[in-house]
Amino acid sequence: MKDGVINENTGKVWLAGAGPGDAGLLTVRAAELIESADIIVYDALISAELLSRIPRDTETVYVGKHAGNHPVPQAEISRILVREAKKGKKVLRLKGGDPFVFGRGGEELELLVREHIPYEVVPGVTSSVAVPAYAGIPVTHRDYTSSFHVITGHARADGTLSIDFDSLVRLNGTLVFLMGVSSMEMIMDGLTEAGMDPDMPAAVLERGTTAGQRRVIATVGTLKEEADRAEICTPAIILVGKVCALAEELHWAEDRPLGGRQFLLTRPRQNMSSLAKRLRDAGAQVIEMPAIHTEPVSPNEPLKSALIRFGQHEEDRWLVFTSPIGVNVFFGFLKEMKMDLRSVFCGKGTVRIGAIGSATADALCGYGLIPDAVPKTYSAGALGREIGKMSQPGEYVLIVRAENGSEDLIPPLTDRGLAVDDIPLYHTVYEVNPMLKEEAGRMFQRREIDAVTFTSASTVHGFVRAMGEMDYSGICAVCIGEQTARAAAEYGMRTETAEQASMDAMVRKITDLFGKSR
Ligand code: SAH
Repeated sequence: MKDGVINENTGKVWLAGAGPGDAGLLTVRAAELIESADIIVYDALISAELLSRIPRDTETVYVGKHAGNHPVPQAEISRILVREAKKGKKVLRLKGGDPFVFGRGGEELELLVREHIPYEVVPGVTSSVAVPAYAGIPVTHRDYTSSFHVITGHARADGTLSIDFDSLVRLNGTLVFLMGVSSMEMIMDGLTEAGMDPDMPAAVLERGTTAGQRRVIATVGTLKEEADRAEICTPAIILVGKVCALAEELHWAEDRPLGGRQFLLTRPRQNMSSLAKRLRDAGAQVIEMPAIHTEPVSPNEPLKSALIRFGQHEEDRWLVFTSPIGVNVFFGFLKEMKMDLRSVFCGKGTVRIGAIGSATADALCGYGLIPDAVPKTYSAGALGREIGKMSQPGEYVLIVRAENGSEDLIPPLTDRGLAVDDIPLYHTVYEVNPMLKEEAGRMFQRREIDAVTFTSASTVHGFVRAMGEMDYSGICAVCIGEQTARAAAEYGMRTETAEQASMDAMVRKITDLFGKSR
């Protein structure tokens, strides 16, 4: 168990709603549970954006439908929950929308009760209200309707509906049909036969709250035809009532600067969120699929002795960093070794600091070090040349960076007669998340992902390793620098490069390429 929430030996099940798709509509409680669960049992309505929030080492079980396959039967899902909880695990059963709104949540709890497995229910934002909201349709409005009703449009095995249309029409409220796409015609006919005006506004809202959301606004008489013309597919909800007409005026979601756009981010998890947050703030849907993560070299004897030597040096010398992660790992190491920075800097000559780009410089500033050399262009060669220019032969340069860092850094230093030590701080480990890989592969095929962002050549290699065999020529790669763009181009991707090596410049590039001017 990852935390101390439960102390008994039996586990517990959380039956939680994940909302309708937009990760921002996850409840705070569900987000906490995604972080802390031992195992997550999820189905088809969970978006890739949500899946990408599941930590790397959390076990997952997919119980939804695969193309052409049947979903896992309900009884089997309940048995999985019981089995895993009995192993003492914290089991998160994650369902689309709200678990008790046509989610069969009640059925899943029955076996838990019988088996005395403790559980909690975490309500979710239901699509029946949120999907209209994202289309600009309030389900109630004082001028038009004083109630709304959520109805299943799922047909019985014999193909008929068990809906009391007469009562529905008499209610005079907004009608929300879930699971109704394939019975749309029957529903519309049922309503008109029960006396509803065929000119009553109606809407069908597909994949609401996601980047792919679409709406068709028509009338009860024309909805089926209009939905067919637009080739509407599931998941979609059908809405009937005067409020539907408000969408024309109140629509907003796709009008945001990056509304309707979806990006896949491959940054290592440690520094993922700022870019993701900024793209989401601009209305984009963001899948975070880290292609690499870093592991500190530990224990790191070579670093320890290099730092002791550095501290005792009599000449002017340089300490050089080439990534924000490197900076954090370096200071993490000092902490672990209980080494004081003053002991590293105490020898005679001056100590100067080099940083490859502004993000690395920022990370150093956070520890009270303002770098002396930051090249204008973000590249290892430029950093080497910059330091070379600023130094005298015989000075000492200690580079602390990733294992297998770029070879371009060292020649400009040695050519200038500097003594160089290059000490690995961390290794890069390629990540594969099979669950996300499969979903992302499908999304690329359907061209649902507008661009993939890369912040180093190693994220490009990691991404390609994770995705395996596929056609990369359809992918737009937004890259942080030339070196990264070259790596992406080698796999046939279309590349776009940020003007500078910073997250600001990445966001600007993406907004220039995909944004709407308001
Ligand atoms: N428990 C879910 C509903 C499950 S039934 C909830 O509270 O939202 C599944 C139906 O929900 C789908 O057939 C569709 O009608 C609707 N639905 C779920 N997510 C949706 C979405 N993002 N956009 C449109 N309809 C959605």
